[in-house]
Amino acid sequence: MFQKMFGWIVMGCILLTGQGVAMSQSNQKAATIVVLLGPPGAGKGTHATAMSEHLSLPHISTGDLFRENIRNNTVLGQNVKSFMNQGKLVPDELVLDMLFQRMEAPDCARGCILDGFPRTVAQAQALDAKLSKNTRIIALNFNVPDSVLIERITGRLVCKDCKKPFHKRFDPPRQANVCDTCGGTLVTREDDQESIVRKRLEVYHEESQPLIEYYAKKNDSLREVDSQNPKEQVFRDILLALSTLKTKESL
Ligand SMILES: [Zn+2]
Repeated sequence: MFQKMFGWIVMGCILLTGQGVAMSQSNQKAATIVVLLGPPGAGKGTHATAMSEHLSLPHISTGDLFRENIRNNTVLGQNVKSFMNQGKLVPDELVLDMLFQRMEAPDCARGCILDGFPRTVAQAQALDAKLSKNTRIIALNFNVPDSVLIERITGRLVCKDCKKPFHKRFDPPRQANVCDTCGGTLVTREDDQESIVRKRLEVYHEESQPLIEYYAKKNDSLREVDSQNPKEQVFRDILLALSTLKTKESL
């Protein structure tokens, strides 16, 4: 009886101290952080959801984390909000605090999929510094030529009235510029105009190139995926790119 109780107490202690696992303790099991890199419109979000299910790793998007903390009115959330309200960029330190807090949850013990972080080499270094030796990082780079992205994004149309989305080439309306559902006029969102898309891609390349090089230099950390292929094929390629993990790291 006492032995049994003692056993439960010991187990409880292990479970409690086991929290915060993946990140900062040294005696933990191997974990893998998959970092998603790629330009806007490359399909990272869509594939992240599927990967998360397939690999049973939580998908952590920094954008979602911001919103969640603001919604729950946490101290971090209040801080983020004050920067956003002033139209300022949220400082790295705050992003890191929020992210590391999330990564200490028990569901991240085996690792996680990071979407929207790191964006800079400094952030990547901060992440490296935080992780234990048993945690490895795989950066998955979604490659799509700019010309393909521009066609994808600038071809988008949306109904002015019911907001139904169309695409000039991939999902055209029955009648040009008229909504199939409500007969409303189809328009191109301002963000989707070619000059704006080109500018966004330019900023992306400038920002991300050093990051891609950073991971390329790290031992066996960078994986490339050709993301202009059909979705199913891209997903197969992703699993293939990560498959070496299963044998090496028991992902
Ligand atoms: Zn409509």
